[in-house]
Amino acid sequence: MDNVALSVLAHPDDAEFLCAGTVIRLAREHGWLAHIASMTAGDCGSADRLPEDISKIRRSEGATAAALVGGVYHCLEERDLLLFYNERALEKVTRLLRAVRPRIVLTHSPADYMLDHEVTSSLVRAAVFAAPAPNFLRDCQHGPPLEHVPHLYYCDPIEGKDALGRDVTPDFCVDISGVIQTKKAMLASHASQREWLLKHHGIDHYILAMRDWGARRGQAIGVNYAEGFRQHLGHGYPQDNLLQTLLGASQKSKVKSQK
Ligand SMILES: [Zn+2]
Repeated sequence: MDNVALSVLAHPDDAEFLCAGTVIRLAREHGWLAHIASMTAGDCGSADRLPEDISKIRRSEGATAAALVGGVYHCLEERDLLLFYNERALEKVTRLLRAVRPRIVLTHSPADYMLDHEVTSSLVRAAVFAAPAPNFLRDCQHGPPLEHVPHLYYCDPIEGKDALGRDVTPDFCVDISGVIQTKKAMLASHASQREWLLKHHGIDHYILAMRDWGARRGQAIGVNYAEGFRQHLGHGYPQDNLLQTLLGASQKSKVKSQK
C-alpha cells in the first residue's frame, strides 16, 4: 500500500478540529498523500439554509480545506443525525478504503459526545478490518482488497471527554506547533460554520476552540500545540506505532506523567 493517510470522520469540519495537523505533517515531512473524508455533507449545520444548499457549500469548503495540504476531500453522502451502522454505510467506507489504499487511517474516538461520531468510529473500525478480506462485499465491484489491515488511530473525542463527561486520555500526542497556522487556515475554509458561530456567539469561537484544545494537548507533552491519539491494537490490526515512528510523537508515559 502507498504512503497515504485517510481520515474518515462524521462531518466536513471534524478533521480540521481533530487531526489536520498530523495529516499536514505527514504530507509535508514525509510526502504522504492526504485523503480527508466525511460521512455526511453536514446538512444540519445551518439555521437558515436548506439541507441541499448547506450541503453543497460544505462539500466545497471541505474540498478547499483538503486542497491546502494537497489532499483530496471525499463525502460519503450519509445524513447528519441519521448515521447508522448498516450495510450501506459500511459498504461506502470499504469502497473508499479499497480505492484510496491508505497505510494510516484516522477516525473518531469510540466514545465521544455525539452518536454520529461514535457510529463513524465503529464503521471505520469494521471497514478497516474487512477491506483486506476478498470475500467481503465481493460483488460490489470495488478495487482489489487491501494487502493487509492498515494502522488505525482514534482521534481525541471533542473536548477530550466521553458522553458521561469522563476524560479520555490519549496514548500519545503529535506535536503540531509548526503547522498550526495551516491547520487554522484549513478550519477557516469552513466559512459557513465559522460565520454561523460568530453570529451566534459574537466571538470567533470556531477557531479559538480548536486552538485552545490544541494548546491543552500541547501542554501535556511540553509543546505549544498537539493532537492526541489512541491506536487500535485488537487482534489482526498492526501492533507497531507507525504514526509515532514517523512523527516522533511523545510516549504514553510522558502524556500521563504531565497530566
Ligand atoms: Zn462532527
